[in-house]
Amino acid sequence: MDGDGGTSMVLRTGNDYIDSLRGRGLTAYYRGERVAEPVDHPVIGPSIRSVAATYDLAHSPDPGLRGLATAGAPGGVTINRFTHIHRSAEDLVRKIKLQRVLGRLTGACFQRCVGWDALNALYITTHETDATLGTPYHERMRRFLAHVQAEDLVCQGAMTDVKGDRGARPGRQEDPDLYLRVVRRTADHIVVKGAKAHQTGALGSHEIIVMPTLALEPGEEDYAVSFAIPSTAKGLVFIVGRQSGDLRCLYDPPMDQGNARFGGHEALTVFDNVEVPMERVFLLGEVAFSGKLVERFAGFHRQSYGGCKAGVGDVLIGAAALAADYNGVAGASHVRDKLVEMIHLNETIYSCGLACSHEGRETASGAYLIDLLLANVCKQNVTRIPYEMARLAQDLAGGLVSTLPSARDLDNPETGELVLKYLKGVPGVATEDRMRVMRLIEHLTLGRGAVGYLPESLHGAGSPQAQRLVIGRQAPLEEYKRAARELAGISSRPRSGG
Ligand code: SF4
Ligand code: FE
Repeated sequence: MDGDGGTSMVLRTGNDYIDSLRGRGLTAYYRGERVAEPVDHPVIGPSIRSVAATYDLAHSPDPGLRGLATAGAPGGVTINRFTHIHRSAEDLVRKIKLQRVLGRLTGACFQRCVGWDALNALYITTHETDATLGTPYHERMRRFLAHVQAEDLVCQGAMTDVKGDRGARPGRQEDPDLYLRVVRRTADHIVVKGAKAHQTGALGSHEIIVMPTLALEPGEEDYAVSFAIPSTAKGLVFIVGRQSGDLRCLYDPPMDQGNARFGGHEALTVFDNVEVPMERVFLLGEVAFSGKLVERFAGFHRQSYGGCKAGVGDVLIGAAALAADYNGVAGASHVRDKLVEMIHLNETIYSCGLACSHEGRETASGAYLIDLLLANVCKQNVTRIPYEMARLAQDLAGGLVSTLPSARDLDNPETGELVLKYLKGVPGVATEDRMRVMRLIEHLTLGRGAVGYLPESLHGAGSPQAQRLVIGRQAPLEEYKRAARELAGISSRPRSGG
């Protein structure tokens, strides 16, 4: 069973979720100003709507989609899949399919996977830590999970420390807070200090699950800490990151935004002496298990990208195909070939996400873990493919992607007719529709949407080199050598004199 059960389960709607975020009084800032109510903020609001889509899909009239977005929990209750512990390889496959659907639906990062991946990584690792060291973490984790499932909560997965001097280990930094650490321990709580960077969906989360950022060594016990706290906890400060084109949400009509409905946001999350009850602590000084936790969380999130980025890729392919239609070049053989190339690249990502899920195996905790080698290959592809897809989409759309006049120029009687006349594409397609599709491609490859589709594909869930380290570690190179030796007739015994 997943959590402890015993609490009544709810399957919230997107509106329930949005209501649950109101009036929380988070200490949050954007462009130097306090964000009074993230839900109503023009820059943060689209991001919260993306998360809301993960709730609404659980109520879809389409039983197939509903089945993807929900999962069975103990006692025959139904929970949102984003709070579910994977119980089979099929569950892992459903995760990828769900993420593709939501990526296509929102054209954005829907933010709820990070916490989901943290729940699953912790479920497996706390079980293993307890089995080895007799610690009490797994039962705490299950009680926390039961709470998340019963309330249908969004968790933020906080792993990436700010890291300061990359050449210095956590304890050797000039400022010891550049990796989040325990600064005080009592019998019933700990106090932590530090900051986590690039926190996806920070202002739309109910809970923050903190994990260490790297495998730690003896002597670094204060940094080997994992726990969960409500986003409203005292001492938390959220500083929202800028995104290219974000001011369009403040100053421009929806048409100039490309995708005005959905978006994503990230924040620098500062922990200024935050008190964490011991009941919410899932790792405290056991350095040997920090690497396992990091590897599993990263593995799950590297799997995730095989679904969500393919879903956003679907939107980009569709936009590029529409642009070609509206430009009147859809019949050209090189245009068709470029679209085929985009499809091939996008399905490569998806195939990797599916493959590492199909090869998932049960762990001692009963939860399933993806194949780590294939998950890392998945993410390595994701660090490259969206950039090539973006190049192809811009190629197909033409230069207008970067020089298009504003929707306000359509509204201005002095320029409106000129824009409509001179930016016309094929007959039968409104100039305004051609402009909209160009804006969407601009948004996904140069604007706010590009933050999630490009640099996040590069650095999210670990930068490319992090995957190469795991790939090097996970691949059975000695087995490959043995196979080669056998076929080449290489014997281990040298001839005399050889
Ligand atoms: Fe989910 Fe993708 Fe966003 Fe990560 S980047 S939270 S996997 S949608
Ligand atoms: Fe991410």
